[in-house]
Amino acid sequence: MSIDFSASLDDKADMTLDEAMALDRADPLAPLRDRFSLPDGVIYLDGNSLGALPRAVAPRVAAAVTGEWGQDLITSWNVHDWIDLPARAGEKIARLVGAEPGSVVVADSTSVNIFKALGAALRMRPSRPVILTEAQNFPTDTYIAQAIADFAGNRRVVEADAAGLVAAMTDEVAVVLLTEVNYRTGARLDMKRLTQAAHDAGALIVWDLAHSAGALPVRLADAGADFAIGCGYKYLNGGPGAPAFVYVAPRHQAEAMQPLAGWLGHATPFTFSPAYEPAPGAARFRTGTPAVLSMTALDAALDAFDGVDLAVLRAKADALFDLFTRYVADNCPQLELLTPRDPGQRGTQMSFRHPQAYAVMQALIARNVIGDFREPDIMRFGLTPLYLRYEDIYRAAGTLCDVVNSGAWDTPQFRQRNKVV
Ligand SMILES: *Cc1c(COP(=O)(O)O)cnc(C)c1O
Repeated sequence: MSIDFSASLDDKADMTLDEAMALDRADPLAPLRDRFSLPDGVIYLDGNSLGALPRAVAPRVAAAVTGEWGQDLITSWNVHDWIDLPARAGEKIARLVGAEPGSVVVADSTSVNIFKALGAALRMRPSRPVILTEAQNFPTDTYIAQAIADFAGNRRVVEADAAGLVAAMTDEVAVVLLTEVNYRTGARLDMKRLTQAAHDAGALIVWDLAHSAGALPVRLADAGADFAIGCGYKYLNGGPGAPAFVYVAPRHQAEAMQPLAGWLGHATPFTFSPAYEPAPGAARFRTGTPAVLSMTALDAALDAFDGVDLAVLRAKADALFDLFTRYVADNCPQLELLTPRDPGQRGTQMSFRHPQAYAVMQALIARNVIGDFREPDIMRFGLTPLYLRYEDIYRAAGTLCDVVNSGAWDTPQFRQRNKVV
């Protein structure tokens, strides 16, 4: 199914609410909104930070608590196959990120999985001293890269701007750690080209899919990626602090040894053998006992993607992007769009700059339009077509421009910083 949503928006800089609602009536993804439980009157544009709640989650978690844990107790590891939940949930994610069957496992947090993937890659390139990353990468990626370089000794982190990455891929580079879609700007790196360049340099590559998985079609196998990690609570809607995932290319699964070799990554954990022997496949990237309740939430949440063609999802996100950014350009052009307009160069979030971005965002949230703020002057809005309507985007852009143009943000209350921004 291929639908060109953007065609209907061409030459429609001054779309009306009625026209936005007509797009909703023609939208093949519109029924999917029913898969989510959303608060009345709120327009939620922060699914890139914490995905909304799929309706299937609460009953599944309730059943896991009262039935599985409460009644079946420890037998649930077998009876409800808790033990293979990391692989089952991983299989659902594999489809979304273009990974081979059996190559994705759900475990731990994104930060921990970065450590595991980098550790495995460093072992595979023992004589190369450098971990190369993008200077604008998300801080946890850079912190973990530095930490594992320090821990391993004789290794160091080199940072380059996006444009300088390929030139920095020297024969000293063991592994390249990149986030496909930048968390601040929404700009997207070319996974296939950079993976090829890393391989040409004899290096391995780890892709962070925090802002890609569930947002757009990812093709890990096609790109030839070595490792990838990603986040369960953003576009995958797994709930606050949901477990993350890790991808290991099939060609590396027999040799990749991750540094957090725990008993549930063992080939036969219940022999309680004193010697570590890694499990075959991606399962060796498990460490300890899975967080069954939160993994159950993620597993149920992933069913919201059942039957969804990610190319269609992406096309709708692009149409929403066009609607929002055109409205802003026409009505509050003082907001500077930081995200590239070209769909090939970005993910599905929009970032705007404003000198008082924090206060503007607080004023917007007070009017039930929820996005978020990133230092120093950025407002982020995530486009999640499973549950966002054209109507929502039209209204959100209108509210944003009204807040900006009226100066309604300029109060001490809206300038007051919260602990979490
Ligand atoms: C959100 C995000 C993370 C989150 O890591 P956690 O361990 O889940 O806190 C990591 N990397 C990137 C690029 C992110 O956007």
